[in-house]
Amino acid sequence: MGGSVNMVEENLKLAYGENSDLIKEKRIAGVQALSGTGACRLFADFQKRFSPGSQIYIPVPTWVNHHNIWRDAYVPQNTFHYYHPESRGLDFASMMEDIKNAPNGSFFLLHACAHNPTGVDPTEEQWREISQQFKVKGHFAFFDMAYQGFASGDPERDAKSIRIFLEDGHLIGCAQSYAKNMGLYGQRVGCLSLVCDDEKQAVAVKSQLQQLARPMYSNPPIHGALIVSIILGDPELKKLWLKEVKGMADRIIGMRSALRENLEKLGSSLPWEHITKQIDMFCYSGMTPKQVDRMTKEFHIYITRNGRISMARVNTGNIGYLANVIHEVTK
Ligand code: PMP
Repeated sequence: MGGSVNMVEENLKLAYGENSDLIKEKRIAGVQALSGTGACRLFADFQKRFSPGSQIYIPVPTWVNHHNIWRDAYVPQNTFHYYHPESRGLDFASMMEDIKNAPNGSFFLLHACAHNPTGVDPTEEQWREISQQFKVKGHFAFFDMAYQGFASGDPERDAKSIRIFLEDGHLIGCAQSYAKNMGLYGQRVGCLSLVCDDEKQAVAVKSQLQQLARPMYSNPPIHGALIVSIILGDPELKKLWLKEVKGMADRIIGMRSALRENLEKLGSSLPWEHITKQIDMFCYSGMTPKQVDRMTKEFHIYITRNGRISMARVNTGNIGYLANVIHEVTK
């Protein structure tokens, strides 16, 4: 039920660090999960079973499926401020207020890096403050890490938020996915891990996670997991993978700069710094649903109605056309 032991081991090293004491002390309960979605769902079911009546605090906005996942697991939801529409950045002050005002010991869902849909992440300094406040309040942080490596091009750097929480001694949870950073969407490879007080507790927690998996899907698929464990377990293949992840991330970063430059050259009077400030695959452009509808109907450019552009689809061949159309509909 827990899937590939080798893959889980490699996963934990990627999220928690190659030389993590938590791994050495066997304090992490980790199971292979059905990609990032399955890891979140397994955790939501675990929360429901072992902390009945608790709720989950979810950022506004978030990946829409987060709401579906915790709803279907019958865990009540609350929200916390995250995005600041005027600055197209983080509403850090309101976020901190919400963290302070939540009842002690609340569960919070945090995007470890590359927040979907906004592309807006806290800075390292802000993560430290968030972690400190979580400590004061005794909150539990559940990190959804669907894009490790995609944000900066370096999986170690993208795990910084988690590492800061670990330095502060939090017992965190983490959902990992290989859909994006290894292109394994269809294989459903991921991992759910929970940091425990000691090895004995980790064994018990893992066993309970397996009990939850058994009547739901029995065991996760093996082939994608083998791909991940072979690549991450072989130093040469891992080096090659890291190079390719960086190549993908750098290409997206390059497209962001080019899109902003194109819009500025066209004479757009709107501010577009957020295109390069936000990170990873998504650009929360600030375009209205009406402007998006015009892009779709008149120009056949398809983005979500909340104005989110998938930067992975932007390339040297279509960027000129895209910039022209954005300029046209936002005039
Ligand atoms: N979390 C977030 C924030 C995501 O954006 C995604 C993918 N869109 C996932 C989790 C899960 O993806 P998957 O189940 O394909 O790994």
